[in-house]
Parts: sequence; C-alpha cells; structure tokens
Amino acid sequence: MKIDLHVHTSEVSFCGHMSASEIADAYKEKGYDLIVITNHFNTYTANRSANERGVLDFFRYYNDAYHLAKEEGEKRGLTVLNGYEIRFDNSDNDYLVYGMPDEIAAGYKELFKMSPKDFSAIANEEGFLFYQAHPFRNGMRITNPAYLFGIEIKNGNPRHDSRNDIAAIWAEKFNMHAIAGSDCHQPEDAGVTGITTERQIKTEQDLLSLLRDGDYRIL
Ligand SMILES: [Zn+2]
Ligand SMILES: [Zn+2]
Repeated sequence: MKIDLHVHTSEVSFCGHMSASEIADAYKEKGYDLIVITNHFNTYTANRSANERGVLDFFRYYNDAYHLAKEEGEKRGLTVLNGYEIRFDNSDNDYLVYGMPDEIAAGYKELFKMSPKDFSAIANEEGFLFYQAHPFRNGMRITNPAYLFGIEIKNGNPRHDSRNDIAAIWAEKFNMHAIAGSDCHQPEDAGVTGITTERQIKTEQDLLSLLRDGDYRIL
C-alpha cells in the first residue's frame, strides 16, 4: 500500500489550495491507497477560522472537514484517516500527531498552551504518536528527542528546504521513528513522497500498529 502521512485540505488549512474532493482525485490518480489528513491545528488557524468563517468550535469544524475528506475518499476507493499538524503557542515548530482521541483534541485551547514535554506525556499515557514535522526547516527549533516518538525525515514541500538529509541523520543518531509525507498544499505537491507497506491498513489502529512496528519503507 502507498500511504501519504501529511496532507492538507483547504477547508481547514488557510495555506491549502486543494479541497477535500481535489485531494481525493489527486491521490487516487497518483496510485495511493491511503492518506492521512493533517491540517493545521493551532491558535492561528482557530482564530482565523473564527474571524473569517464564523467557526465557534474549531475541533468540531476540523473534524467535519476530516469526515468530508473521508467521504470523498470513499467514493473513489481511497482510505482517508485523521491526523493533526499541531503548533503550540510558544514556538513555530510543527508536530504531526496520529491517533489522538477526540476528547483530547476537543480541549484544543488548553492543548495549544502546552509544551512538547507535557503533550508528550499525554501521548505516552494515551498511546498516540507524536512526531516533529520537518525539524530542520528554517525557523524550527530542536525538540528533545526524548519527548518525541519520531520525526519526519522526508518532507516533500517544494517551497521550503526541509534539510531532509540532516533529519535522516538525526533520526538515526537518536534512534527515532522516521516518517515521510508530501505536506501537500497544492496540486504539484500531491504524492511526491510517503511510505509503502505490505500490510493492509484500513483503520487508525492499523496505522498506529504499522507506525509503531516500523513495518514500512520510505518512498
Ligand atoms: Zn500549511
Ligand atoms: Zn503540513
């Protein structure tokens, strides 16, 4: 199976230029079997959604956008799962999160005020996965590897230098789980990288097991 772990839709991400249906079309055409929607989940997006889109509950809005993408995927035989690209208020770092329970995401106002250390403790307790996205892009700061399940060692966004080579060395040095994703925001980004596995992944639990076991290759 071909999987993209880092995809944005314009319904939530203001920097995204592809709607859920355009994303589903593009990934189907590129031969992907599964994508994870990782829209921006941070104070900036929540505030802008409130101001420009009249969103009262950002979690509900975020979740509805995921379900829309899931439906669009299902129409085309593409599995769509939910994830998050979180930014905490105290830095410009971005983090990819998979398997976070809805009850935790619903408390997003408190969540955005957390430190990576505190969030990491919750992720460990609840059994969901916390990775730093593109950790060596300009403006990013190193997160203590002890707080992370892993890092993104291959980010496909062509408008940033993510220094993927350095990220790969970093993951190796600190024995961290390594993932890849297109960070798709617009048509030319779709399906430039991701992971591939022999397993059949259908549910979030399948995905979490796959990522924990590391039973995949970077595309
Ligand atoms: Zn973005
Ligand atoms: Zn992203």
